[in-house]
This record gives sequence, structure tokens and C-alpha cells, in this order.
Amino acid sequence: MAALAGARVLASQGAAAAITQAASVAQANGVSAGQIQVTVNLATQSINVSTRRQVGLGLARILNQSQAEVGASAAAAAQTVTGLRGVAPLGVVWRNFVFGQLYDLKVGGGSGEQGWYGALDLGLKGGGASEYREHLTHGWQGLLRVGDDVWVKSGNMSGPTRDAIGQRLNMCTHMPTCTFTQFVPNCPRLLIIPVVTPPRNKVVEVLGFAGFFIEGLPGSGNKSFIRGRFVEFVATGEAGSGPSYGARTFTLIR
Ligand SMILES: [Zn+2]
Repeated sequence: MAALAGARVLASQGAAAAITQAASVAQANGVSAGQIQVTVNLATQSINVSTRRQVGLGLARILNQSQAEVGASAAAAAQTVTGLRGVAPLGVVWRNFVFGQLYDLKVGGGSGEQGWYGALDLGLKGGGASEYREHLTHGWQGLLRVGDDVWVKSGNMSGPTRDAIGQRLNMCTHMPTCTFTQFVPNCPRLLIIPVVTPPRNKVVEVLGFAGFFIEGLPGSGNKSFIRGRFVEFVATGEAGSGPSYGARTFTLIR
């Protein structure tokens, strides 16, 4: 627990804060300050927590030994998310997005490369507009993994996109109001969008997961862009190595 708590802080606030956090969680769980050793490895962005304690022995007293030292240790690190539920049925081709910047994601609007407007068929191939709207509003509940091939959804999904984004904006009732720098985990205003290869024969391959914090309602017709800020976020999903597009998860690595 201490290692995981420290790893979360390490990614956002640095080593000193991570060590303090890990130690305080360990102490809150009954380990005294002198029994904890916390080390940080910046190269691997991991944190190691060890404890040692002298304990009294029962049976071993026969062997003239009344005490022994026992220890435990664990290491945790931030890792790339390689599999996730709850993603939006959209795909974005990577174009050097910068964290905190505002982007108009082409969905429905614009001219569409090869007839593709950015929508994906995450459920059944050729699923209808209502299925797309449902997946965009609440996130697709299936598990999408890096390396998966997904069918692109052809056609202008302008109406359902506008409906779904409007619902997401309404569903964030958090107080204080979420912003792109401070939002609750799983806030509906956070759209998790698969980063994909350009379409080939109407299929794209998933490369990773990006987060966009919704900043406005899309227009209709050709003005149907989703306006969002590219953000980092913490997700509960499958962890692994590989390039990160902003989605992180924290796991015990030892
Ligand atoms: Zn919110």
C-alpha cells in the first residue's frame, strides 16, 4: 500500500513528496518511522518500501533464540496502460499533441480522410447510430487492447456525437466543477480515445490511449468537432511497457 501510494505521488510531485507519502501510509498502518526504508528509482519511476522489525519467538526459544528480525518489501511503479474498458468509440491518429493544449477533434466535421470521420465500431461491425451514441456517452464496456484491430465507422456521426458529448457535459456534477487541471477520476468529461494507425482497408490498429477533457459542445453538420484539452490521466487497466499517450496506471512490480 505504501509503495503504491508513493508511486502515484512520484509521477506528479517528485521523489521527496513520494517518500513522505509512502512513509506516512506505512506509519498509518502501524509501522514506526524507524522501521521503514523508502527508496526511489527515477530512471524506472519506481519506489521501493522495506520494513524490518524484531519479533519475539515462541517455539524457537528452545533453541536459545528469543527474537528474530522479519522484513517485507514491495516496489511499485507507474506503467503504461495497454488495455482498458470504457473508451470512446473514436480513434485519433497521433499528431504530437501537447498536454494542456486545446484541440478540435474531427468527428463528423471536416472532409474525412478516406471517408473516415473518426468514429469506430467497437461493438458489432456496422452497429447503428444508437449503439455509437451509447458507447460515446458511457464508454464502451468491452476491453480494448494495444494491438487490437478495429473497424472504422463510416459516415457522419454528427448528431449522435453532439448528443453524447452534451450528455457527458451534463453528467459532470462534481463540486468543485472539474477542470482540465483538476478532475475526479472517471469524470464523464474525460474522453478516453484510442490512438490508432491511419485507416487501411477500413481497419485501424490501436497504439495506445489518450485522454481529452471536453471543453465544449460540438456544433452540428460540418462544424461537429469535439473540443477538448489533451490531458494525462490515471486509469485502472492492464499495465505494460511501451509508448505512453498520457494514460498511466500504478502497479506493484515486486
Ligand atoms: Zn467531473
